[in-house]
Amino acid sequence: MAKEGALTVGKKVILNFPKHTWDKPVVYTLHSKFNLIFNILKAQITPNEEGLMILELVGEEEKVREGIEFLREIGVGVRFLAADIEKDEEECVHCGACASVCPSGALHIDRETYKVIFDKEKCVGCELCVGACMYKAIKIGL
Ligand code: SF4
Ligand code: SF4
Repeated sequence: MAKEGALTVGKKVILNFPKHTWDKPVVYTLHSKFNLIFNILKAQITPNEEGLMILELVGEEEKVREGIEFLREIGVGVRFLAADIEKDEEECVHCGACASVCPSGALHIDRETYKVIFDKEKCVGCELCVGACMYKAIKIGL
């Protein structure tokens, strides 16, 4: 039950689950112990065999903080999503590297032109594309 007057916040986070955490009821614990509501935006296994989950956590500000501390204590990587991503069309060579890591399909290869298209509406701000682009064509808050 939420405390009266407690501030309710929503935080979008990207979680990396190393293999040793896969058998733990992590997301369930966020709800049962910290009373957080979550909305899973994306879940997948990455090529280096980590579980990747992008979710929005909603709850009392203090509980959200405690829940994130709990995740980090058990070895789950936590990063906040905040990025306002832009693709610089002048720098982009359409190599496709960013599209291969984009979990939401915001960056994708057009099947007819083979150009990499950025659909900002689908972007969840995880920033995975930033590190994937060798041409520095993906920018945060351009
Ligand atoms: S990785 Fe960079 S250069 Fe390659 S398609 Fe994506 S934005 Fe363009
Ligand atoms: S930040 Fe980049 S990789 Fe992440 S969803 Fe947006 S476009 Fe895709």
